Amino acid sequence: MNFVLHGHSVSAGITIGHAHLVSSARLEVAHYEVPQDQIETEVARFDAAVGKVRQELQDVGKQIPADAPAEFGAFVDLHEMILNDPSLSSVPKALMRDRHMNAEWALIQQMETLVAQFDAIDDPYLRERKADITQVVERVLKALLGRPGTVVPDLTDEKQLIVVAHDLSPADMLLFKQHAFGGFVTDVGGVTSHTAILARSLNIPAIVGLHHARHMIRENDLLIVDGLQGVLIVDPDALVLAEYQLRQSHHELERKKLKRLKKTPAASLDGIPVELFANIELPQDMAEVLENGAQGIGLFRTEFLFMNRRSLPDEDEQFEAYREVTLAMEGKPVTIRTLDIGADKALQTVAAGEAALMPNPALGLRAIRYCLSEPQMFLCQLRAILRASHYGKIRLLIPMLAHAHEIDQTLELIREAKASLDKAGLPYDKAILVGGMIEIPAAALALPMFMRRLGFLSLGTNDLIQYTLAIDRTDDAVAHLYDPLHPAVLQLVSQTISRANRGGVPVAVCGEMAGDPRLTRLLLGLGLRNFSMHPAQLLSIKERVLKTSIADIMPMAARVLRSTDSRRTQELLHKLNS
Ligand code: PEP
Ligand code: MG
Repeated sequence: MNFVLHGHSVSAGITIGHAHLVSSARLEVAHYEVPQDQIETEVARFDAAVGKVRQELQDVGKQIPADAPAEFGAFVDLHEMILNDPSLSSVPKALMRDRHMNAEWALIQQMETLVAQFDAIDDPYLRERKADITQVVERVLKALLGRPGTVVPDLTDEKQLIVVAHDLSPADMLLFKQHAFGGFVTDVGGVTSHTAILARSLNIPAIVGLHHARHMIRENDLLIVDGLQGVLIVDPDALVLAEYQLRQSHHELERKKLKRLKKTPAASLDGIPVELFANIELPQDMAEVLENGAQGIGLFRTEFLFMNRRSLPDEDEQFEAYREVTLAMEGKPVTIRTLDIGADKALQTVAAGEAALMPNPALGLRAIRYCLSEPQMFLCQLRAILRASHYGKIRLLIPMLAHAHEIDQTLELIREAKASLDKAGLPYDKAILVGGMIEIPAAALALPMFMRRLGFLSLGTNDLIQYTLAIDRTDDAVAHLYDPLHPAVLQLVSQTISRANRGGVPVAVCGEMAGDPRLTRLLLGLGLRNFSMHPAQLLSIKERVLKTSIADIMPMAARVLRSTDSRRTQELLHKLNS
């Protein structure tokens, strides 16, 4: 059946491929093709895992205390029955043999089919039994993953797959980095949620807020993801498909043309230099940073090093990651932001588990607040960053500042970290610059207090908009109210830039506004000279800068800033950009 869904575009581009339905908890499962000559070994691996779970269930059965409720024994029996049913113990093997799927993939695929069949059953009791199937499958998956030495081979075939999910956490998205999917679409999510930001960094077309995609789309449906318009076309007819193939090749051609700008110095038409920096989440993002000719790293979101794991990375592991990035940048600035954990970026550790229970995590113990409440963990990160500073030009960036005492306490901890390194005779950059994120309205409004204490500022417009307009950036129900052009937001951004410029304190924007080509001229007109964004956006922004005479656009930018009528603002912005 042919239909179209509309959502919010998160990452531009067009992709055409087949639907792959996922539940976020199972994303860690690798999907790959097994070569013909290794199929039987893979089947044996599957049989061994099923055997292990059978044994586990029998052991559980034997250990049930005599006084346990009868349902408990019945539940173990049911799980054994499900496991032994050919639909779970044999069909996946057929999928492995016929379609060369790896064991985990075949198992998940078969589970999705069974769950869909259960969904169609009228009887509520039987419908509920799908949870038992899922639990048994998860047991087998665990047994499969528990086997060391499973190599994930080249995943180039997944290029054609489009992930369809109800929701994905930033941690799930991080796992996408290891795969090569063609695109992704979700039912929920806001455009500046960290999940969306990661999608953008993967540089694949993506749409969020599609509401019912996960239920309406079937595995393997042909999909067109139009990330330019935020439109998803399911099962397109031949004419539509041909039109989109044309648009896709046109878009790819444009991207290739942009590559020519890699080495062109970023300066406006009237000769004003502009710095274009990159945002990264992991050291592995560096290849793309270098490919797009970034002049520095404006934001290293270090919290992503701490995700998808049960224990925190120690000082040495962090040091290696920071040093790797610093060395790759060969003396160009690397801005390392200290842990910004909390809100939608949760850790798996106990402390973060507690954080998830906070009544309002976006207003709770997040980022610097969390770090100051865990001084040993914070000191460990500060030492690692300082040690890496010996290998290049690192700048330290503190997130979510609202109070002067937060800066003072942080600076005191930095002094402590330095003293401990001095004592151990470990080298670091003694003149390391310490800056702060301006992303809480209070910080923008009380700027002198920050300028006095800090060496540079970075405007986090994603949170600044969230907190100024009281819009949860992860909630698609209010995504239409998330407005970077709201007069209050523009006032805060503009004031911060001009005050910092007047006071001689370097200022950058590292929120998503910096990577939006529609806003480049406006920001230039407001006095911004340092933009930090995902590397994939860098060359389109450079193209905008190269085509702009700052002196000419200043009056129009000032008019956008003064506008209090949203339709008029749009018209003025359009004029500014034409
Ligand atoms: C921001 O808030 O704009 C920002 C850059 O930080 P993050 O998106 O990681 O919260
Ligand atoms: Mg932020």
